[in-house]
Amino acid sequence: MSCRVLESCIGCDMCVLECPNDAISEKDGVYTINEDLCTECVGFYKSPQCMRVCAVKAIARNPERRETHDDLLAKARRSHSVLQK
Ligand code: SF4
Repeated sequence: MSCRVLESCIGCDMCVLECPNDAISEKDGVYTINEDLCTECVGFYKSPQCMRVCAVKAIARNPERRETHDDLLAKARRSHSVLQK
């Protein structure tokens, strides 16, 4: 799975600063997560950092996008050469 921003987002920007994949962007006050970049922080942290720092719990895993740990790790490796085997 990847994560997504919920309507309860207050636009504090904290998640953007934490994302190791630069997967979170803002336009006109609306924050979105690029699901093709989000790895649930696999490759960097043990849990999604955007969910950890969100004060209003406005980020959740997207159950409609199922990915295994290996899928997420492969995605991280495609984006970050330092994670290559
Ligand atoms: Fe970025 Fe991690 Fe949040 Fe995905 S779970 S958007 S990789 S901070």
